[in-house]
Amino acid sequence: MKKAIIIGAGPAGLTTAYKLLKETDYIPFIIESENVPGGISKTLNYKGNRMDIGGHRFFSKSSEVNELWRTFVVEQGQPSQDDLLLNRTRTFVGKGDPEKEDNVFLVRNRVSRIYYLRKFFDYPVSLKYQTIKNMGFKRTMKVGFGYLGTKFRKLKEDNLENFYINRFGRPLYAMFFESYTTKVWGVEPKNIDASWGAQRVKGLSLWKAITSMFAKKKETSLIDEYYYPKYGPGQLYEIMARKIIELGGTILYNTEVKDIIVKENKIEKLLDTQGNEYVGDVYISSEAIKDLVNGIENAPKEVKDVATNLPYRDFVTVGLLVSKLEIQNTTKTMTVNNIVPDCWIYLQEPDVKIGRLQIFNNWSPYLVKDFADKIWIGLEYFCNEGDELWNKEENEFVEFAKEELEKIGIIKKENVLDGARYRVKKAYPAYFEAYHSFPIVKDYLLTITNLYCIGRNGQHRYNNMDHSMLTGLRTVEAIQGLISKEEVWQVNSEEDYHESKKK
Ligand SMILES: Cc1cc2nc3c(=O)[nH]c(=O)nc-3n(C[C@H](O)[C@H](O)[C@H](O)COP(=O)(O)OP(=O)(O)OC[C@H]3O[C@@H](n4cnc5c(N)ncnc54)[C@H](O)[C@@H]3O)c2cc1C
Repeated sequence: MKKAIIIGAGPAGLTTAYKLLKETDYIPFIIESENVPGGISKTLNYKGNRMDIGGHRFFSKSSEVNELWRTFVVEQGQPSQDDLLLNRTRTFVGKGDPEKEDNVFLVRNRVSRIYYLRKFFDYPVSLKYQTIKNMGFKRTMKVGFGYLGTKFRKLKEDNLENFYINRFGRPLYAMFFESYTTKVWGVEPKNIDASWGAQRVKGLSLWKAITSMFAKKKETSLIDEYYYPKYGPGQLYEIMARKIIELGGTILYNTEVKDIIVKENKIEKLLDTQGNEYVGDVYISSEAIKDLVNGIENAPKEVKDVATNLPYRDFVTVGLLVSKLEIQNTTKTMTVNNIVPDCWIYLQEPDVKIGRLQIFNNWSPYLVKDFADKIWIGLEYFCNEGDELWNKEENEFVEFAKEELEKIGIIKKENVLDGARYRVKKAYPAYFEAYHSFPIVKDYLLTITNLYCIGRNGQHRYNNMDHSMLTGLRTVEAIQGLISKEEVWQVNSEEDYHESKKK
């Protein structure tokens, strides 16, 4: 028996552990600094109301990942309106085997819109009558001519601003992308690498947005349905963690890895913040690259310099329990209590700091304790650790969040029943500044023969859950000698965002 030490019980770490147990003679030993599994895909529980940090859609083009998900949960389909209203209080619990009946993927409709000029626009933007009406004649003409201009003159795609302008035209870019992207990254799009756009929205353009309304095969960014575990994404990772332990693996919670002792291109041992030592045959890390490299005392100076300066964007989310929303459901989509049908709303209003709003009732009714008459919403703020937003006290932040939503007409403060704030460090690995020298770090990490880097921050790549999990699957193949270590880094690296299926 060999031992694999894994840093992190997020989607990537858990996937690696599970696959090792299933297919190799390595026994995984996961070290996790938090007290629950799931990493940034965990689900928080505030007085019985569950909060998904950001809202995690389960969608993957990878059959391997879809198959893996279905090992743990079964597809249930849409709950009916009656189910939701009448039987929603744990519909399936107590009627049989909860393992089978509760561990389900709901099929959800993706409804998300942009809120701008205190009006709703389609997300992604489409040129419907309503859009034109909302924008007004003058703005629409400007948008049209701006888009036509891109047909005659393409900008060099060396930054995100030019990437968007080439696809949407400058006026539409200024309306719907510039301020939102700046909110998300804290940096103007002209200073962000175009590869971010290539990964996330390559298939998207104004023309595609129009034609997608009729097309059968949709681009990833336009997928209309997604899966969602009944009790939020954390549910899946809790099930995975339980299975790993059943199969003989270990998860050590509340333990933070601090030092990585490297001798002659091999990790000799890890030390946690209490000085406890952990020795294994292989080491797999989903820890942020910046922290990993800083934990290696004898890493070369140029490597440390780049790793230390790698940029991240941090994140604060606020859950508000409200009795009423001020925005009306004017769509044809039916909802319980006729609340707006959106899973999330992009807030493009420049006079508030909030970036996005989740309506958890629409993700899964089972996230909300008093679903029949309360609405549980999640507000997303992008910030940097230590800045003004990050440093606000919880009560102060909740007050601030209420005021922002009232200002743009989403709620009335008096209808807020409760609120909670949660902070997430390094929510987004960013692609600017020191990131341009990232190959120096990656090449160094590849020289450590018994180290494998996985996941989102573990590879400093804007990976979704599926890609994070795929890095875990590839790592096990690399450990088995079936592929090279370099190939583990190729997941989600293709410019065109289409994951190439294994032949
Ligand atoms: C706002 C937001 C929305 C998102 N929406 C989606 C979506 O809709 N769909 C989707 O597929 N993906 C989405 N994602 C991405 C998804 O959250 C990530 O891809 C996924 O969680 C990454 O998994 P991971 O295991 O690589 O890392 P993480 O989830 O970050 O897990 C890493 C784990 O390692 C632990 N750790 C780190 N350092 C140490 C250390 N030194 N010692 C011990 N433990 C350590 C951490 O505590 C954590 O538990 C979203 C992300 C955000 C921020």
